[in-house]
Amino acid sequence: MRSEEQAIQVETALMGRIYTALRDGGLEAEPVLELAYLREEWGESTPATRELLERPAAQLTATDLIRLGEDLLRDVDFTPSLALEPRLWATLEHALEVVERDVRAGGITSTLRLVTHEWDSMGRAWVEFQGGYHGNGIEPLWGGNAQEALREVADAVQETIMAMTLNVWPVCAAHHRGLHAGYEDGMAVWQCTGDGTHTVAPVGELP
Ligand SMILES: [Zn+2]
Repeated sequence: MRSEEQAIQVETALMGRIYTALRDGGLEAEPVLELAYLREEWGESTPATRELLERPAAQLTATDLIRLGEDLLRDVDFTPSLALEPRLWATLEHALEVVERDVRAGGITSTLRLVTHEWDSMGRAWVEFQGGYHGNGIEPLWGGNAQEALREVADAVQETIMAMTLNVWPVCAAHHRGLHAGYEDGMAVWQCTGDGTHTVAPVGELP
């Protein structure tokens, strides 16, 4: 008998293989069928798992496999890890470069880096500043959208800088209050709550 932990590892590996094959081509029946068996074994039956178990494998066309593979991943809310999907990491790193402009504009010179941690089973990205990090980390899925990545990274950079320096950053010049990363018209911006909420600048464009 497999332990539950091993079974989860097997499931994660199968989902990774299916995700990569759906992205790059060359999806085979084996991981799709194996994942369907596993889900059924756990009592997580869906139309996709039932179809895979009921139809003779030889009848499954490449189109069927793609459809069923996509359904299986969607049914478990699969999100790829940073290691599996380098584009997510690239988007987060680019966001950090943009936020770094604001950090430099604020006269803060220490190095900023995006890192992962071995202990983090959720595989999040962390902003490292002066050898430390803070907050809850950045979920990989935020790397799927440039503006969401900017807002999340701005938030993480702010939290880490404030924790490491014990200073408020960034600050609204008009109201002397800490700014917060938010959205305006779908764009990541720095906002101040002084005098009713106002937008100070897009993230990356602080004066
Ligand atoms: Zn203000």
